[in-house]
Amino acid sequence: MVQVVNELPSYAAYERRQQRIQSVYQAYLLELERAQFDGDIDGSYSGRLIAATDNSVYQQLPQAVLYPRTQAALQQAFQLAQQAAFRSIQFAPRGGGTGTNGQSLTAGIVIDLSRYFNQVLEIDPERAWVRCQSGVVKDALNDAVRPHGFFFSPDLSTSNRATIGGMINTDASGQGSLVYGKTSDHILELRAVLLNGEVLHTAPISLQQAQEKARGETLEAAIYRQVLATCVDKRAAICAKFPPLNRFLTGYDLKHCYDEDRQLIDLSRLLAGSEGTLAIIVEAKLNLTLIPQHKVLVNVKYDDFQSALRHAPALVQARATSVETIDSNVLDLARNDIIWHQVASQLEDVADKPMRGINMVEFTAVAKADIDDKVASLCQQLEHLIANQPEQGIIGYQVCADGKSIQNIYAMRKKAVGLLGATKGRRKPVAFAEDTAVPPEHLADFILEFRAILDREQLHYGMFGHVDAGVLHVRPALDMTNPDDEQLLRKISDQVAALTAKYGGLMWGEHGKGYRSEYAPKFFGDELYQELQKLKAVFDPDNRLNPGKICTPWGTSASLVSVDATKRGFYDRQIPIHVQESYQPALNCNGNGLCFNYDADSAMCPSFKATGDRRFSPKGRATLIREWLRLNAEHGFDASQPPAAKWHPMKAVTGAFADDFNHEVKAAMDSCLACKACASQCPVKVDVPAFRARFLEWYHHKYRRPAKDFLVKQVESLASGLARAPRLANWLTHNGFSRWVTKRWFGYVDAPKLSVPTLHKRWQQQQWLSMDEQQLTAHVATLTSAQRDNIVVVVQDPFTSFYEAELVEAFGTLASHLGFQPILLRFAGNGKAQHVKGYLKDFAKTANRVAKQLNHVSQLQLPMVGLDASTVLCLHDEYRSVLTEPLNYQVQLSQTWLLDVLPSRVERVAVATPNLDLQLLTHCTEQTAMPKAASEWQQIFALWQIPLAMANTGCCGMAGTFGHESNNQAISTKLYDLSWRNKVEREVVTLATGFSCRSQVERHSPSKRALHPLQWLAANCR
Ligand SMILES: Cc1cc2nc3c(=O)[nH]c(=O)nc-3n(C[C@H](O)[C@H](O)[C@H](O)COP(=O)(O)OP(=O)(O)OC[C@H]3O[C@@H](n4cnc5c(N)ncnc54)[C@H](O)[C@@H]3O)c2cc1C
Ligand code: SF4
Ligand code: SF4
Repeated sequence: MVQVVNELPSYAAYERRQQRIQSVYQAYLLELERAQFDGDIDGSYSGRLIAATDNSVYQQLPQAVLYPRTQAALQQAFQLAQQAAFRSIQFAPRGGGTGTNGQSLTAGIVIDLSRYFNQVLEIDPERAWVRCQSGVVKDALNDAVRPHGFFFSPDLSTSNRATIGGMINTDASGQGSLVYGKTSDHILELRAVLLNGEVLHTAPISLQQAQEKARGETLEAAIYRQVLATCVDKRAAICAKFPPLNRFLTGYDLKHCYDEDRQLIDLSRLLAGSEGTLAIIVEAKLNLTLIPQHKVLVNVKYDDFQSALRHAPALVQARATSVETIDSNVLDLARNDIIWHQVASQLEDVADKPMRGINMVEFTAVAKADIDDKVASLCQQLEHLIANQPEQGIIGYQVCADGKSIQNIYAMRKKAVGLLGATKGRRKPVAFAEDTAVPPEHLADFILEFRAILDREQLHYGMFGHVDAGVLHVRPALDMTNPDDEQLLRKISDQVAALTAKYGGLMWGEHGKGYRSEYAPKFFGDELYQELQKLKAVFDPDNRLNPGKICTPWGTSASLVSVDATKRGFYDRQIPIHVQESYQPALNCNGNGLCFNYDADSAMCPSFKATGDRRFSPKGRATLIREWLRLNAEHGFDASQPPAAKWHPMKAVTGAFADDFNHEVKAAMDSCLACKACASQCPVKVDVPAFRARFLEWYHHKYRRPAKDFLVKQVESLASGLARAPRLANWLTHNGFSRWVTKRWFGYVDAPKLSVPTLHKRWQQQQWLSMDEQQLTAHVATLTSAQRDNIVVVVQDPFTSFYEAELVEAFGTLASHLGFQPILLRFAGNGKAQHVKGYLKDFAKTANRVAKQLNHVSQLQLPMVGLDASTVLCLHDEYRSVLTEPLNYQVQLSQTWLLDVLPSRVERVAVATPNLDLQLLTHCTEQTAMPKAASEWQQIFALWQIPLAMANTGCCGMAGTFGHESNNQAISTKLYDLSWRNKVEREVVTLATGFSCRSQVERHSPSKRALHPLQWLAANCR
């Protein structure tokens, strides 16, 4: 029985004995460090934890993570491991970590190539190939080759975070595989490092050359000898065994390693799909495909998913490039997601007929006429079936030829796994039999039986996939913290393995084997499985490279990994249920890695983008919080409630150098910008700022806060006090000495200056009203209903009111021009900064005070408008978790209100046409929480016939006070450089909706000025 404690314990290494790095690994890492390994060696507990999971149900803590910078460093690491003392050391390579079956998990050392092996080295447009390092993300590779008119055609849903190395090693493929094939179909050459440190170069060579190579003494020669013995000598058995599927058997591809017709041997085919069990690939030369100039998508709608499956073969025969399917469960989840507003117009409901499945039929061609013919003929067939054969279940279709809309539909399809993760309840969709492949003509029958297996166990599931290739993605919902469901996973796995065999298919049609490798001997059969083992033995005789995956080396007693391996649920279930529920978003993270999005112009996740450190991502932070909660439970500490005792500075200790896991969690939280992209963009809404604030509250109950936190906590009342004498305050805070003090003692640089004249003065000069809620009630009581209709109440926030009063004035100006009476509501605070720093008690006080005021005003039924997105969103979002009274108010952002009132009043105001083009950059919090914000501004400007271009940007790097903190300067500047600088420094007028963003522009692009759209309108209206 664990004793319950009220203070956050320390989690020093000695208390975490079971997670200690084994002594042989410690000695090896020390030796590697001494040898000046060129790369990062991470033996920290947090660093190991983030490599302990992928998108699978498994969890395996590695001993350490190595991030080599160069091929030489990798060779050095392997050569050292050849020494007798280190012969027991094992390794597994890792790329994006998006494997669905634990492919990159190991109890040894993870070698992560995604951090430094991320260069595109050479592009040859004439011969249509690219040479790149193996850690390059697939979409990043496509960005590099796109200007030459090419793309790397094997597709996968994780294309914005999966690496080329990972793709090669799982032989990835996806949509369009009938035409584009798998990754292995596009490999021209590979460079790999073998376990003894030798470098292996692979490319197709003649049989004769292979035989010559096989005569040598090197490891390469031994490899060729075995390849010839297996792939050539056993050719008949291989051809007899392999099913004639588009998704041929992966790892090791005995069949395609030898091209009998052309008498070629290609070792790349052997490495492709080998899941890091043979060698580590450092470089690849890949062939490229011309980007099709014409693309049309026909979305066919069905009243039943089974109808969609049965119809698929006919669609393939319509000479489509690909046919993708989605069932009603996924469709319904998409409807409730932020993504739906992008696709709704392409998937309109059919009157009185529920849409319970769709097939997305894509046609691509170089010549437009080719597509037109095919599409016309398919449409004709569909019309005929809809009119004459209702029993086929087709209820309608829509044709989409617009590139952006097609992209959006595929984005929805790519998000399907994540969407399923948002399923309510303790059971969540999990991957373990999620990529079965059967010959497409058997798919509908196979799925009927598959469904029967799941229905017998009364499980929920969503289905989608590539029906053209017979691949269906099915993730049954299980509660992996429940041992009974863990047993069910084993039972269903066995049944599905048998079912795929019955239909002549594969259990691993797309994602590789990983922990499912235990089924490999049966699938390959004794004879061929032994050949696999012999190949493994020549590359890795001591079973040290990703051991237990795919097969064990011939002649050893090593065993395969099993579906019964330790799962994440084993650790999660150690956290009491009420604590799990209290920190649900962190528990819900399913590791799909969407938050590792490489694209600098996307909002998710700035701290990961700037650092390349996965601890500093939503997944990383969720992982660390889960482990923190588990350790808490182990020590009898309950973090589901806030600290009961009052914080006392004398009780708190600094402890900065103590070895305590709490510090590792804190370090991960410190680099979070609290931008909240994860709260809306993550498919399961892993809201990091919410649990970060709770962690910080507990952490600082134990460890003393830095002085800057006290400043932030008081920033609203300080600003409001100083704003009474802004000139004096600015002089006091911005002279050389006080700047030095602020930087040195409080860790803040270039804090903004208070507005002069103040908002109060400006408002008075304009003779607009300014009042508190009681005065407002009294005032409204004196008005006629027509007068009331012309009132707009301005809800103040600390940023614009005190530091950018001209923006609030601009709103007043525009509102007055439109015939409204703007009334400034007394400043009551906001509390966002208190929340960010984890002052949750103070935040609760502020929130309740402000909510009381807003609830009071809301009874008057007047529109309330706020000007800063992040603080307005806070009123509706963060407030919910702390309010003791109901949230009855609605504060709108200015564009939402304007769009509502403008159509009937736009004639009253003329706006001058700009001399330069206008572009709009939205605040990242607004962009993710209110994805329509930018288009609303475009609509507003369009009412005056003024074009407003939208620029895609990620976070600007400021995010409230984050960018002002001295220790965040590097991250903040990097983020600005990544996504903002090049857009701001164009010859255009930049409009930016965020206060933080405008401050960041002022700081980093001093020759430019970003205005809020309201400021521009107010300055140009007549
Ligand atoms: C939501 C979701 C959707 C998915 N959809 C698809 C899909 O449509 N199609 C598809 O094919 N897959 C899909 N997958 C699976 C996964 O994304 C792919 O297997 C992908 O190729 C893995 O790439 P990665 O960089 O994340 O590799 P990792 O997961 O890091 O590693 C995968 C394997 O490759 C090995 N490896 C990685 N890099 C190297 C290297 N340089 N040298 C040697 N071995 C290496 C690892 O040891 C491991 O065995 C999906 C996964 C998720 C989570
Ligand atoms: S935080 Fe969200 S996006 Fe990131 S891995 Fe977890 S579930 Fe996926
Ligand atoms: S709030 Fe922003 S920076 Fe923090 S984890 Fe979420 S996405 Fe990353």
